[in-house]
Amino acid sequence: MSSYETAQKYFHHAADVMDLSNNMRILLMTPLREVKVQIALEMDDGQIGTFIGFRVQHDKARGPMKGGLRYHPDVDADEVLTLASLMTWKTAVVNIPYGGAKGGISVDPSTLSPGELERITRKFVDEIHDVIGPDKDIPAPDMGTNAQVMAWIMNQYEKFHGFNPACVTGKPVELHGADGREEATGRGVAVVTRSALEKMNRSLPETRVAIQGFGNVGSHAARILHEMGAKIVAVSDAHGAVADEQGLDIPALIRHVEETKQVTNFGNSREISNAELLAYDAEVLIPAAIGGVLTKDNAESVRAKLIIEAANGPTTPDADEIFDKNNVLVVPDILANAGGVTVSYFEWVQNRQHFKWELSEVRKRLETIMVDSFERVWKIGTEKKIPMRTAAYVLGIGRVGRATVLGGI
Ligand code: GLU
Repeated sequence: MSSYETAQKYFHHAADVMDLSNNMRILLMTPLREVKVQIALEMDDGQIGTFIGFRVQHDKARGPMKGGLRYHPDVDADEVLTLASLMTWKTAVVNIPYGGAKGGISVDPSTLSPGELERITRKFVDEIHDVIGPDKDIPAPDMGTNAQVMAWIMNQYEKFHGFNPACVTGKPVELHGADGREEATGRGVAVVTRSALEKMNRSLPETRVAIQGFGNVGSHAARILHEMGAKIVAVSDAHGAVADEQGLDIPALIRHVEETKQVTNFGNSREISNAELLAYDAEVLIPAAIGGVLTKDNAESVRAKLIIEAANGPTTPDADEIFDKNNVLVVPDILANAGGVTVSYFEWVQNRQHFKWELSEVRKRLETIMVDSFERVWKIGTEKKIPMRTAAYVLGIGRVGRATVLGGI
């Protein structure tokens, strides 16, 4: 099943609950615009590198379109469309005034030199600058991109359009970025984990957590959950996985990863496989890496009773059904990882007002939005007796649908 078929399946589950007409389903699912461009640049060795860049603008009923830029070899039209549609529902679930978009370049950024990374980014902006902008579509970091890439995007965009820091979010704090943006997705994940555990009559202290992925999202989620008292018993990255039943020393692990670029060979921790990590004996499992990792082949082996989808699209529909049957609570991506785009919104607001917020203000407002959104989705789920994913889609689709009708078709 392609990732877009998965996205459609989840959409239709909610649309069925809402009794949404066929016309409305087609209107809401069809992307507004799909851009595919050639990015040609001179590589360091003098060769010409030709890459394909995508930007899909899915829906703008609720405001300018918003979503990250992914640099990854798996990026293709289907994946970017899927992720763009997720952004539409995500911004609606947390009720920030945006639509949804996503972009990416099919490239492995680890094979590029810093100079090549800068050139590929600037060339991409050259091709898409007309269709993005602070009132149209605002890119942000995603897998394989970071604050430096956002700084280049801003600088290149401004060559065409003049001073305009709100044209992109997730920028370095020294260059119109928001304090707290980098940790925001991880912080949001930690906050919804706490909320979900409360519903299960558990609290974070002594709760065991396994985290797949130790990039921006996974490492900040681990740090903040550790600060909140949880025991992080297993983590992985692209190179391997480590575990410690007593709880990993997360600040030390973060330092270890800064030095060695991988989680393995860490202190007294035990090395485990990725499959063992997903099935680890923990109350909470947080997939925080790529999509499609929880499938019908491994869902039965998951021992956690709570899954927090920090990644986009980590669970296939087959696996989702198994979790439902096994009473595993799944907090879906469009809610669980919405902290990132929420603080992107705060950054955009600050840029437009030319007024910088304190970090404490960013964190406080993020927490309020995540807790309120969680409670709203939870209420829909319990009232309608539907899984949290379907409930989140019901909330998101309802808001986008109403805005669409109110605006006039
Ligand atoms: N890439 C992130 C996401 O998938 C953040 C998007 C944004 O900040 O616009 O939600």
